[in-house]
Amino acid sequence: MIKLTTENTVKAVAKCKQLKPRVKFIKDRLFVVYSSNNSNVYHVRFDVQNDEKFGQCECKASERGFICYHIIAGATANIYRQSLKLAK
Ligand SMILES: [Zn+2]
Repeated sequence: MIKLTTENTVKAVAKCKQLKPRVKFIKDRLFVVYSSNNSNVYHVRFDVQNDEKFGQCECKASERGFICYHIIAGATANIYRQSLKLAK
């Protein structure tokens, strides 16, 4: 898994805002992100250890250790879900 920091997510956040991929919730910390460029579908997983966030995607960029916009899309949905839980 790749550690998510403010620094290494800047580019992916920008790309995510531009492409606005669709995200589907599967279960806790597991999402499906639909590619904006083609018909690819990626499973994105998250983990939290010692208050640090980690993410993993199935695409080539993530395999090479980069934060991709799929992870950001999933993370955004994950944070949104967490906030809904807190609101209950
Ligand atoms: Zn990806």
